[in-house]
Amino acid sequence: MATTGTQSAKDGQYDVIIIGAGFGGASCAGLLARRGLRVLLTEKNAVAGGKAMSLSKNGFTYTAWVVIGAPVIDNYYQRMLDELDVAELATLAIPGTQGSIYKTPEGKYKLLPSMSSDGTDPNVLFEWLEIAEEERGPALQFFAEMTLMPADQVAQLSGTSLDAWIRSKNVPRPLYAFLVSLCCDGMFMVPVDSLDAAEAITSLQQMFTRGGGVFCEGGYGRVAEAYCEAVRRSGGQVLMSTRSERILVEDGRVTGVQTRAGTFEAPIVISNAGLQPTVLRLVGEEHFDKSYVNYVKELVPSYSLLGYRYFLSRPVTDRPYGVIFSNDSPWSLERFNLARRGEASREGVLYYEVPSNYDPNAAPEGKQLLMTGCFCPPDPDLSKQEIQAWADAGEQTLFSAFPELESAIESKELFTTRSVANATRDSALPGVGGETIGLGQVIGQCGAQKPSIKAPIGGLFYVGCDAGGTGVGTQQAIESGVNVAEAVYRYHHLRYATFGAD
Ligand SMILES: Cc1cc2nc3c(=O)[nH]c(=O)nc-3n(C[C@H](O)[C@H](O)[C@H](O)COP(=O)(O)OP(=O)(O)OC[C@H]3O[C@@H](n4cnc5c(N)ncnc54)[C@H](O)[C@@H]3O)c2cc1C
Repeated sequence: MATTGTQSAKDGQYDVIIIGAGFGGASCAGLLARRGLRVLLTEKNAVAGGKAMSLSKNGFTYTAWVVIGAPVIDNYYQRMLDELDVAELATLAIPGTQGSIYKTPEGKYKLLPSMSSDGTDPNVLFEWLEIAEEERGPALQFFAEMTLMPADQVAQLSGTSLDAWIRSKNVPRPLYAFLVSLCCDGMFMVPVDSLDAAEAITSLQQMFTRGGGVFCEGGYGRVAEAYCEAVRRSGGQVLMSTRSERILVEDGRVTGVQTRAGTFEAPIVISNAGLQPTVLRLVGEEHFDKSYVNYVKELVPSYSLLGYRYFLSRPVTDRPYGVIFSNDSPWSLERFNLARRGEASREGVLYYEVPSNYDPNAAPEGKQLLMTGCFCPPDPDLSKQEIQAWADAGEQTLFSAFPELESAIESKELFTTRSVANATRDSALPGVGGETIGLGQVIGQCGAQKPSIKAPIGGLFYVGCDAGGTGVGTQQAIESGVNVAEAVYRYHHLRYATFGAD
């Protein structure tokens, strides 16, 4: 790989400043530093990883909340660890099984039979979901059509909702509920009737042909921490616990970043702080055309997850993760809005994760940590009552599926949309900031309509889940990191070739 730094840049300047060491920012910074650019990476938290940061407490290590990666085979997490030469710093864990639980129409909770995580046997699924014999042929045909659909056909489905596409295939309801609950409500965190079908099908194909359920020993944040180390090893600078307060702009071009540790100059700034916070807070809307500001304000975030971390006196399950769902779990826009107003049940899919079931060192001997997450709006300022109502709905589902769990609880911690916003992006608009993924992968915000990685200000780029990638959250953020690094590397050299020194 080429390593051509800019010799002409003034002392004390950087070629590029990256704000935020989430999966997007850290991977992008690592790649640019490896390619010889003079990189400064600033992160407001003490640890990297953003929405997938690692935590530890009383002998437990874990990702801050339920975070499950995909695909197993040929994923970006490992590809980047290898490319940045830091594979020894983060060890991915791929458990041999998962633990989804189907609540039957009769109210019985049925655990998915143990199944390899590097592929899915549809016959095992059909048996578990109690799909009638005569429905299995068409269901199998649906699986084949979905997993083998060529990319150009998938792309044509952009603009159609996943809900509309699956419904057109007459898929049995339990299979619909399983696909939406496991693969869509959690992977994309938007109601299925607003989810872009092309975006979803691409990830479902990956999941069913290349497996799902990837974790990292010590929590997912280790992956981003390793990417930060790659920046340092390549001569770049990483400033942790350093909030960027302002992106400086003169005559329509960025000139640097003002942080709590001082002001740093660079002709290129890449923001991992979220597109809306970048435009509306870090740069300021006065630097953009009104039409761009209006466009940015109209962008819709993904929804959020809130849940509990249960510290348990004894193990209650040997499964590493799963979803608990019923035929009625999938969220449509209408049902979600009714539930939000308290006019429909808040019972939806519940995610759970048990770190010590994929990494034995993640909990003290004989103990277990089980984390949950259930759908909720992205507002970091949800009222106490609303938080409690969503949390109670999730807890009720958990206790029904694991009746022995309640008596094993030694302590529990609630995480909310406020916890997510505090740990990651600032709230730049009312009701927004606690989203799990970033901008929602909804119709109108995917494919050709995905926001551009390039802001309409000279030298300003976005990286992370809001622009530049596709697919499931963490994977999407790294794909964006790779794509933005490539674009910025080209931009940097093209500017030098054309205009000389910045
Ligand atoms: C509860 C929850 C569950 C999830 N479950 C999954 C899952 O199962 N699978 C999956 O793949 N994904 C999951 N995700 C989503 C995934 O974690 C994110 O989509 C992905 O990590 C986002 O990466 P990013 O680089 O886009 O941004 P972020 O992770 O948001 O990183 C942005 C970084 O920028 C920093 N920053 C922001 N503003 C500033 C500033 N002004 N100055 C300095 N630094 C700043 C932040 O502190 C942060 O570190 C989940 C997320 C949450 C919250």
